[in-house]
Amino acid sequence: MQDVKNTADLEPYAPMIDPFERVINYLRVSVTDRCDFRCTYCMAEHMTFLPRKDLLSLEELDRLCSTFIAKGVKKLRLTGGEPLMRKNIMHLIRELSRHLASGALEELTLTTNGSQLSRFARELKECGVQRINVSIDTLDHDKFQQITRWGKLEQVLNGINAALEAGLHVKLNTVALKNFNEFEIPSMLQWAHARGMDMTLIETMPLGEIDIDRTDQYLPLSKVRQNLQSEFTLTPLNYRTGGPARYYKIAETGGKLGFITPLTHNFCESCNRVRITCTGTLFMCLGQEDAADLREPLRASESNALLSRTIDEAISRKPKGHDFIIDRRDQRPALPRHMSMTGG
Ligand code: SAM
Ligand code: SF4
Repeated sequence: MQDVKNTADLEPYAPMIDPFERVINYLRVSVTDRCDFRCTYCMAEHMTFLPRKDLLSLEELDRLCSTFIAKGVKKLRLTGGEPLMRKNIMHLIRELSRHLASGALEELTLTTNGSQLSRFARELKECGVQRINVSIDTLDHDKFQQITRWGKLEQVLNGINAALEAGLHVKLNTVALKNFNEFEIPSMLQWAHARGMDMTLIETMPLGEIDIDRTDQYLPLSKVRQNLQSEFTLTPLNYRTGGPARYYKIAETGGKLGFITPLTHNFCESCNRVRITCTGTLFMCLGQEDAADLREPLRASESNALLSRTIDEAISRKPKGHDFIIDRRDQRPALPRHMSMTGG
C-alpha cells in the first residue's frame, strides 16, 4: 500500500451535523460483501457477489475513512460481509490505527463472525483495537451449522478464546430467531457473562432477498425480555456504546445485555452514524434507500475537497428515521439490499 500519511486526510473540516441536529461521529464501513458463512437470515446460499474491480481498494478505503475522521468521526467500525476475509485487511487496520495514535479517532473496532480470529486477534490488539463484536446465534454444533450453513462452531469458539486471551473485550451479537434459539438465550447469556462478555440481542431486519420466509424467523425482543424476566432481574442502564442498543444489567450474572429492536422500538432519534458499502456508497440510514456515491468523487481528484463536499451534501439529506415492516401479506424485503452490503 502506498504511503497515505501525507495526503490531505487530516485537513480540518466542519463537523457533520444533519438536519435534525444530530452530530455524525460514527462510521461503519463494509470492507467486503463476501463471507465464509451463509447465515440464513442474512444471505441466500448461492449469492452473487460484486466483481472485485467494483470494490474500493485498501488505499481508497483508507482515504475515505481518514476524510470522515477529519470530519469528526470518532468511532470507526469495520464490518462486511466478513471483514477478516478481505485480503490484506490487517494492512488497512494497521494504517488506520495511526488515527488512534494521533488521538483523532477514539475507537477502531470490528464486527466479525469470529472464524478468522484465531489468526488475527493478537495483531488486532497490537493495532489498538480494544473491543470487537462477535456474532454467534447458538452454542449447539448442529444448530450452528444449520443457521450459518457453512460455519463450524469450534472454529468460532477458538476464535473467541484467542480474542479473550489477546486482551480484547468481546461482545456477542445474537440474532433472536423464533423456533431456533428462543429458549437457548438464557443459557447463552450465562455462558457469555461467565466469560466476561456482554451480549446484545438483535431482532431480524427485512434486508435483502433470502431463501426463507422472514415472518417464520421473526421473534420480537419484547417477548424475549419478558421470558428472561422470569429467570433474571433486568435493570435498565444509561450505558451506551454509540450504537442503537438499549442495555440492561443482569443482577444474577453481573453482565450487561443489550437489545436492538429496529422493528418494535424506534431508535432513530439518537442516530449518530452513517454506513459505507465496499463500493463506496454512503447510506445515511440503514432503513432507507437514499444513498450517495463517494467512489466517483474519491477517484475524480487527489484532493479530498470534492469528496468532503459530496459527504456534506449527503448528510444534509439524512432522514429522520426508517420504516421497516415485516408484513405477512407482503413477503418482499423492505429493502432489496442485504445486510452484508451495508454491514448491519
Ligand atoms: N460477518 C460479520 C458478522 O456476522 O458479525 C459482520 C457482518 S454481519 C452482516 C453484521 C451483523 O448483522 C451480524 O451480527 C448479523 O447477525 C447481523 N445480521 C445480518 N443480517 C441480519 C438481518 N437480516 N437482521 C438482523 N441482523 C442481521
Ligand atoms: Fe456472513 Fe455475517 Fe452475514 Fe453471517 S451475518 S452470512 S457471518 S455477513
